[in-house]
Amino acid sequence: MIDLGRLIAERIRDVPDYPKPGVMFKDITPLLADHVAFAGVVDAIVSYHGRGTIDKIVGIEARGFILAAPVAYHFGAGFVPVRKKGKLPAPAHERTYDLEYGTETIEMHTDALRPGERVLIVDDVLATGGTARAAVELVRRGGGEVVGLSVLMELSFLHGRDKLGNLDVHSLVTV
Ligand code: AMP
Repeated sequence: MIDLGRLIAERIRDVPDYPKPGVMFKDITPLLADHVAFAGVVDAIVSYHGRGTIDKIVGIEARGFILAAPVAYHFGAGFVPVRKKGKLPAPAHERTYDLEYGTETIEMHTDALRPGERVLIVDDVLATGGTARAAVELVRRGGGEVVGLSVLMELSFLHGRDKLGNLDVHSLVTV
C-alpha cells in the first residue's frame, strides 16, 4: 500500500519567489510525471465522491484542467472549463474577484450546464479561496448544483475554505 498523502507531498516541488517575490509556488509537474502518483490522485478524488454521483467536472485553468479531465473520464461525467477572461469562444458568464494586488476575471460558457446538474470543481491548489469561490458562483449562475471542491493541496494558513461556506472541500494534502 502506498501512502498517497506522503507521495503527493514528496512530488509537489516548492519553488520560492515564483511568480513573484514572497510566493512559495507549489509546482505539481513532478507529481504529474509520476504515473503512480498521478493515477493515485485521480482515483482518490473519484473514490471520495463515488461514481455516478456527479454530472460535470469543472476544471479551473490551467493546472485544474490536467486533473479534472481524467477525473471526468473516470466518473463518467462531462468536463467543463473555467477560463481566464477572453479565452472562451462562445457567450460566457463571468466573475471578478480580488487578488493580493488587483483583480482577476474568470468565465464559463453560459450553456455549459443543464439546470440542476451536479458539479464537482477541481483545481490544483486552494490558497486564499478567491478563485474557487468565483468558480462556485459561476456554476450556480449557470444553473448547476456544486457538490464539492477537490484540490490536490490546501494552503490552510491562507484560510481559503472560510470563503466557501459549508461547501464540501476535499484536499488530498494540507499544509
Ligand atoms: P486562490 O484564489 O488564492 O485560492 O488561488 C488559487 C489559484 O491560484 C489556483 O488556481 C492555483 O493554481 C493558484 N495558486 C495560488 N497560490 C498558489 C501557490 N502557492 N502555488 C501554486 N499555485 C497557486
